[in-house]
Amino acid sequence: MNIFEKYESNVRSYCRSFPDIFHRAKGSIIYAESGEEYIDFFAGAGALNYGHNHDYIKQKVISYLDADGIAHGLDMYTSAKEKFIAKFNEVILSTKNLDYRIQFCGPTGTNAVEAALKLARKVKKRPGIFSFMGAYHGMTLGSLSITGNTEIRAGAIGTLNNVTFMPYPYGFMESFDTIKYIESVLNDVNSGIEKPSAIIFETVQAEGGVVVASIEWMQRLRKLCDENDILLICDDIQVGCGRTGSFFSFERAGIVPDIVILSKSISGYGFPMSVLLIKPELDIWEPGEHNGTFRGNQLAFVGATAALEYRESSNLEQDVKVKELFLQNFLYQKILPIKESIAIRGIGMIWGIDLANCGSNSLTKNITMRCFEKGLIVERAGRNDTVIKLLPPLTIEMSTLKKGCSIMEAAFNECL
Ligand code: PMP
Repeated sequence: MNIFEKYESNVRSYCRSFPDIFHRAKGSIIYAESGEEYIDFFAGAGALNYGHNHDYIKQKVISYLDADGIAHGLDMYTSAKEKFIAKFNEVILSTKNLDYRIQFCGPTGTNAVEAALKLARKVKKRPGIFSFMGAYHGMTLGSLSITGNTEIRAGAIGTLNNVTFMPYPYGFMESFDTIKYIESVLNDVNSGIEKPSAIIFETVQAEGGVVVASIEWMQRLRKLCDENDILLICDDIQVGCGRTGSFFSFERAGIVPDIVILSKSISGYGFPMSVLLIKPELDIWEPGEHNGTFRGNQLAFVGATAALEYRESSNLEQDVKVKELFLQNFLYQKILPIKESIAIRGIGMIWGIDLANCGSNSLTKNITMRCFEKGLIVERAGRNDTVIKLLPPLTIEMSTLKKGCSIMEAAFNECL
């Protein structure tokens, strides 16, 4: 009897990918009650960019609790919130010359996606949204409606109207000009597709299988939105907060979205938190129009402030560049030669190994299970889960990164 059958006969639980009971974690290692240790190449799907129980952030959280800091402060302005806003303005917005208003949503990323959709529709007074095939934006009805994967949407029995999916540049579409296509849809008055209030996009479709948009594509998307009076929303929930190198993933394209959505690693510690960054002229909410009891978690503010302090004092961006190069070389030199139909994609510290053309659909499941047996936690993504997604904490030690990669190489060689 496996662990899930033993303890969860009456529980509707998570995906059940990793059959062990985990109880402790430090940095990039997770410890299980069985005595096993696992290298974490999953990092809470991007919620743990600073690793587990980061020393500096942990101390700040402990001190806050020790001093009986407010844990829940609905409708109150708190010192934890004040400190986060000041630090975020100083370290992120001012240094990057970005003029955004900060709105706390939450606690999940999905909630901030909902807020972005509502705000765009309110500002432009148009209900339509364009999203992209392969996109992932969340599990509530609004966010699910803009998630471009019918398998993920299946549980909802129908989703919101007024959403149109556009092709994301990918695979067989490489030679197809997706921006021109969107333009032609907008220009065709008889298409039956009304002009949207916003186009929402990810710079890297992470759950979609690590599909990386080019700089040119993002710049053309920005221009298209400007020329057509459409808002550009960047969902930076998974690949923001330094995952691709710079703090915001869109920085590499030199573009400025109208609305940015952050969550996952923004709190620095795995606490729930989500944030909307809004160009000031778009902030037309009336008080109470996007509310919630757990909006703006105080411990998350403390963790988030400490994470920004840590960023300031470390060479995180430089470190990510070094590790990016290591991962790229490893994947191209050790994994790609195993089978020619393998495709490798990635940037910064998010990489995907696409096995869609390698035959059996259960291949990625076998490989991730084999990795787990050998002490490496790694998850799958993409259409039909055919992509193995590498997402280690940004702070992972080089020796641990190398060890995790060796485990992966062995698992690939055994399964392929
Ligand atoms: N957008 C993106 C790009 C995501 O990766 C996720 C989570 N995987 C979400 C939205 C939803 O966030 P949450 O699970 O916190 O609601």
